[in-house]
Amino acid sequence: MTRPTVTLKKPPHIERVRHVLTRRTLTVSAIEYVTPAMLRITLGGEDLAGFTSLSPDDHVKILLPSVTNEEERRDYTPRRYDVQTGSLVIDFALHDAGPATHWAANAKVGDELQIGGPRGSAIISADVKRWLLIGDETALPAIGRRIEEAAADEVITSLVAITGPQERQVFETKATLNALWTYRPLAAGNDAAALLDLLKTIQIEPNTFVWIAAEAAVTRALRAEVERRGLPQGWLKAAGYWVKGKADSHETFA
Ligand SMILES: Cc1cc2nc3c(=O)[nH]c(=O)nc-3n(C[C@H](O)[C@H](O)[C@H](O)COP(=O)(O)OP(=O)(O)OC[C@H]3O[C@@H](n4cnc5c(N)ncnc54)[C@H](O)[C@@H]3O)c2cc1C
Repeated sequence: MTRPTVTLKKPPHIERVRHVLTRRTLTVSAIEYVTPAMLRITLGGEDLAGFTSLSPDDHVKILLPSVTNEEERRDYTPRRYDVQTGSLVIDFALHDAGPATHWAANAKVGDELQIGGPRGSAIISADVKRWLLIGDETALPAIGRRIEEAAADEVITSLVAITGPQERQVFETKATLNALWTYRPLAAGNDAAALLDLLKTIQIEPNTFVWIAAEAAVTRALRAEVERRGLPQGWLKAAGYWVKGKADSHETFA
């Protein structure tokens, strides 16, 4: 049987929108464990007025005091923002060390947190109808948000590395979703093997936008694999969301 011919679309346009950079002091209004190692913190307060986040992979800077008097800054995804209730949700993937994780793990309702941004949004044009979203725990907030915000005519495959079945999340979506999970210990967070093995089990259909975010070495290996499989230019966005062994570190690729 011959396969039906598929029309290859032009690469999607990515519109970059700048926002006025604002520092906000917010108050913790709720804390819940989404899973044992994913802590969801809801923030509110008058300072949220005017907050804008136009793309699921936007990020804010979490600003924390440090012992050296130099402010610590870490990147986190606005997992959900609700204008009606004036609330901003951030999901923290818990790991062993680091000021952001330490802050989240010890936060109490009523605590204050300063954030800056988002400085901008990169909006991938709405005519993308097929997505392959690949990542680890740190990418799950952006992946979950994209899945939840997707329209009914979108088809999404997500490949996510987590530590075990207890870390799986369920997303509500109008889109058609094929959510695939793979397990590896957090100590192997910089080892791409689990995600590469999962990636090898799926086909990348024409006109699929591939989005990757994970530990930097993992992102690099995954990006090389999708390029090796002939993904056309302009259909990939990849970022290293953290670097094993280095505090406050991330890498931007394509
Ligand atoms: C655009 C963007 C969006 C992001 N969104 C989120 C998000 O929504 N939720 C989220 O949890 N993370 C997110 N991250 C990742 C987060 O910024 C990093 O994990 C950050 O390093 C955590 O800060 P920290 O203070 O806890 O640890 P750091 O002080 O930065 O690091 C301390 C040590 O912990 C290691 N480490 C850092 N992160 C991890 C990890 N996840 N697992 C294991 N070891 C780690 C470092 O290699 C270092 O050795 C995002 C990153 C980017 C670039």
